Formats: sequence, structure tokens, C-alpha cells
Amino acid sequence: MSFYDEISKIDLDKFRDVVDSRTDKDVERALSKRDPLDVYDYAALISEKARKHYLKEMAHMSMQLTRKRFGRTVSMYLPLYLTNLCTNKCRYCGFSSANKFKRTVLTLEEIKEECVAINKLGYENILLVTGESDRRGGMDYFRQVLPIVKEHAAYLQMEVQPLATEDYAELKTLGLDAVSVYQETYHPGCYKENHLAGKKMDMRWRMETPDRLGQAGIDKVGIGALLGLYDWKVDLCAVAMHVLYMREHYWKTRISVSFPRLRPAAGGFEPQYPVNDAKMVQLICAWRIFDPELDLTISTRESAEFRDLIIPLGITAVSAGSSTEPGGYAHKGQNLAQWEINDSRSVEEVVKALELNHLQAVFHDASTTYFKAIA
Ligand code: SF4
Repeated sequence: MSFYDEISKIDLDKFRDVVDSRTDKDVERALSKRDPLDVYDYAALISEKARKHYLKEMAHMSMQLTRKRFGRTVSMYLPLYLTNLCTNKCRYCGFSSANKFKRTVLTLEEIKEECVAINKLGYENILLVTGESDRRGGMDYFRQVLPIVKEHAAYLQMEVQPLATEDYAELKTLGLDAVSVYQETYHPGCYKENHLAGKKMDMRWRMETPDRLGQAGIDKVGIGALLGLYDWKVDLCAVAMHVLYMREHYWKTRISVSFPRLRPAAGGFEPQYPVNDAKMVQLICAWRIFDPELDLTISTRESAEFRDLIIPLGITAVSAGSSTEPGGYAHKGQNLAQWEINDSRSVEEVVKALELNHLQAVFHDASTTYFKAIA
């Protein structure tokens, strides 16, 4: 039975009441529990009671757990946008097929140029990003692209359309290390409302992707929800359930969680459920306390000031100097970007800011360094 099968049995909207009804005692129980936390503990950690009465304690605990598990290292990665071509129509995204603009698919030569530019910035941890298009940005393309990028990447990640188990297994032989596939929202009604055309309309296919990645033996799987699309209490409890499910079924797979907030993009979509900064701080601490092993990622969607505040609390992977435009490292300003960058500092500036917080930037996947840091 897949995660989709399991979660389909639940009325997810009930999580709203679960979060709202948590008491101080529930929060205290979650904070002092020695056994692994469950989704009710997670609900307590993201509740109003936790924010009002326990945020300081949560921040302290989150920092301690992060340093204990990950040392003082923060993994640096950079997204490489291969194409802004997409056959889907997601209401919140600049690459939606509803938006009319010139589409680009990088050639192999252009990808090499991008990789060289990325390496010059110091990065060896590269995240390949595409819109979704089987015809021009599918497996045939990836088979040619991965060997080129792998020459420039010690750790190779992808955030592309969901693929079949055998495709992931094949890409693993070409050097693929990690895949992120965010569900955007776990709520069936909201999912249907926001995904108007294309393969992404198939909620089951998308939600079962982490299962297929686990079965294909991919080292790390990134999951998460797009904050602002639906009620965060509901979606985040669903993500917590997904983490627990992945732990139980694919114990060899490392899990990373991301919590992107909706950013302005072409098409002018306005988030219905905005999440403010204070809530984001609480959410990051809640994730760390919920599962001390989780990789927690924050992108340049967030502002410089906010990133400097939250990274020491529990974040383990960040991007800096990013471009969300295909070809944007070697030839800036020629194609449409997916969303606006909020932290536009240079890599050096971000590294310096990390050092001021006594953190060390690591430009390949930091998993091996963590162990050295702990020893
Ligand atoms: S979110 Fe992804 S699938 Fe949807 S329109 Fe944007 S690029 Fe395409």
C-alpha cells in the first residue's frame, strides 16, 4: 500500500482541529518525549500554544539537536534550470503553459557552460531543475545531460517531473544522488483547483513518487508542501505523516524537507494562506524536534535577513547566488525566471554571514563531513 493509499483514507481537514486543540500539556509531552514523535506531537509543536509559550525553548532545543547531529556544517547547493518548458498548468507558477513567453531548453553545450560557471562559484552540489515535458525534457534528454553534469558535480540532485522506478534506477547509474518532488498540497480539493492541465493533474502519480524513489534506492528524497497554497496546519501534518511513512518503509533513504513559501511569479497568483516570519521560525524548530535526522533546506526565496536568522536554528542546506532562469549563470537575463529571488547576495556574502553565526559552508553534500564534525 502506497502513501497515497494510506493518506486517502483520512479526512485531512481534521488536522486543522487537531492543531488548534493542542494544549500546553501536549506541547510539553512532545518536547520531553524520548520515543520518536508522532503526528500528534508534531501538531502540538506547530500549534498556537507552542508559539505563545514554548518558542524560546523550542529554538534552543532545535539548535542543540542540529549541532549534535550535523555539527556546524551547512551544505551549499545551486539549482541549474535546464528548461522553462512545461506542459502543465499550475496556477501559482511562472512556467505554467498558460503563460505565453519564449520557452528554452538548454543545449548540451549550454549546460556545459552553466556547469563551468557554477563550478567557478565553488559549487559541486548541483540541483537540476526543469518544468515538466516528456517530449523535450524527459528521459532521452536526461540520459544525455546527466553524464555531462556529473563531471562537474560531486553530488547531483534533480527536481524534475515524476518518473518511473526503472527511470530513477537508470539515472542512478548515471550519477543521480537525490531527488526532490514536492507535493505542493496534500489536500485533494486544493490540488485539483490549482493543477489545471497536464500530467501533474494526476495526484496519485505525484504522491507515489517518493515510494518509487525509495524502491529505486535513491540516496536522498526531498518532500514538502508549498506554503500558502492551502491551510499550512493541514498540509504540514500531511508532510509529517509522509516523513513517518518514508522512515518506516524506506529506512535506507535519507529524507529532506523543504518549506517554500509562495513567491510572486508571472501570472500574478496571490497566496490564500500566507505564512508569516514568526510562524516560519516555529515551523523550522518543529521539524528539527520532530525528527533530528531530517535535512532541512531553505532557498533564496527567503530574504537575506530572515535566512541569517533561521539558518542557525536548524537548517542544513542552503543555496546562494542562485538563478531560476535557464542559462542564468553563464548568460544572465535572456530567459524567464521561475520565481523572483529574495536573497540576492553573492556566494561570498552568504558564506561570511554563515561564519558570523559560527557555521561552515560545505560545497559538496555534507553528509560525510557531518560525521567528521561529530567525531
Ligand atoms: S510548478 Fe512545475 S509543473 Fe507546475 S507549471 Fe511550474 S514548472 Fe510546470
